[in-house]
Parts: sequence; C-alpha cells; structure tokens
Amino acid sequence: MCGIVGAIAQRDVVPILIEGLRRLEYRGYDSAGVAVLSDTGTIKRLRAVGKVRMLQDALDADPTSGLLGIAHTRWATHGVPSERNAHPHISRDGIALVHNGIIENHEELRAELQGAGYEFTSETDTEVIAHRVHYHLQKTSDLFKAVRATVAELEGAYALVVISQKDPERLVLARQGCPVVIGLGDGENFVASDVAALLPVTRKFIFLEEGDVCEVRRDRYRILDKDGNTVQRNVHESELSADAAEKGDFRTTC
Ligand code: GLU
Repeated sequence: MCGIVGAIAQRDVVPILIEGLRRLEYRGYDSAGVAVLSDTGTIKRLRAVGKVRMLQDALDADPTSGLLGIAHTRWATHGVPSERNAHPHISRDGIALVHNGIIENHEELRAELQGAGYEFTSETDTEVIAHRVHYHLQKTSDLFKAVRATVAELEGAYALVVISQKDPERLVLARQGCPVVIGLGDGENFVASDVAALLPVTRKFIFLEEGDVCEVRRDRYRILDKDGNTVQRNVHESELSADAAEKGDFRTTC
C-alpha cells in the first residue's frame, strides 16, 4: 500500500502535498516524491529514498513551489526502492504521473514504446503509463482524452494522477482496482488515495468508482464513467477531525 496526493489551488500546494504524504505514511512505503508546475511554467520534481522527512529535507535544500502538483509514497512492486524508480515519473516534454498498483501488461507496452523511440529511466511498470499518455497526446492534444486512451490499454490495477506542463489548469485521474478520492475545496481542489491525506484542507469528498476517469480544475471537475458517460457522484461530508485517519479496506496491490 502506498499513497497519492494531488492539488490545484491559488496558493502554494507543496505544503499540502507533503502534509498529505505524512498522513498516508501508515500505509507503508519505501520512497517519496513530488512534482509541481513551478512559476517558470516547467515541471519540477524532487524524489528521495526513505521517509517523507527525507523528501522534506530535499525541499528545504531546493525550495520548490507551485499552484498545481502531485506527490507519492511508493511501495515498490517492479524495480528496487531507489530514487530513479520513485514516483512521479516524467515523460519527455512535461508529463508527470503518480500511480498506485500494478500494470500487468507493462512489458508489452514498454517494448512498443521503445520501438517508437521512448527512453526509459526506471525499471517500474509505472513509467510506461507516463510515456503512453505522452504518446497519445501527440495525436489528441487533449490531456483528458490522452489519459482515457491510455487507461483503455492498461491491464491491472491502478489509481493514477497526471499533470502536464502544457495544461496548467487541471489534474487528470483514473481509478481501476485502487481507491482514489477527490477533495472539494473553496476555489481549490485535491485528490488522494484516501481522505486522511486531505482532512486539513477539506471535509467534502467524492469517491471515484471503478473505471472512472476524471479531470479536476480549481473550480470544477468532470467525471466520465467506464463507458465514457458524464456522471455525477455523491459528495460525502466527513465528520472526522483533522488528526483522525480513516483506514479503508485497501487491496494489497494498492
Ligand atoms: N507498481 C508501481 C511501482 O513499483 C507502483 C507501486 C505503488 O503502488 O507504490 O513503482
């Protein structure tokens, strides 16, 4: 088990992301990382083996801020625990992605991408997803469509969140076999593996269902179900206090 946090706001999201990762530490992990769209318009990534504290140390040494970002604690399934295997994974000109779960057909997708000229920098199953989103983006030039085309090719379990430096107004996420929630704020929105990560910033949550793909902007969101229909999902109000952890029934692959 491991964790995902993402945020889009009008304030620096890095402290929100790091606090979110701390709140997911109970799930277990071996490394941590963060990627934000910095004010230069490029994606900046920092990763560290070990505790979230090590990632915080890296941030202290190399201060980073941004209004859009994603973060991850990894529990390695494919590739040793190492900085190069830690998430977020990046593809070419600015796609960053975090993933919980296991992609079963990663070898086949990797071979195809290598044939198309993509270079891999990790041993993870996850990196294929980032390159695949980039690959589809060349054809559709729409991040939401590119993520939908990508997840249609994936076999296995995933909760994933993607940002693009060419698309600073949204996060795109998808769920199949691993939990992910949207946290609704006031002029800012969040995503995470579970509500515990987001209790300091919101009490309003939407639980994605299997096969959902979703875009989250600062002031709105849109969910498509597994058949591509726009759907509304119930908003749940959590009564947990900010220091409470809600530990759900997570599958072992997540
Ligand atoms: N399978 C991916 C990896 O090994 C994700 C692991 C996780 O869920 O943290 O990097």
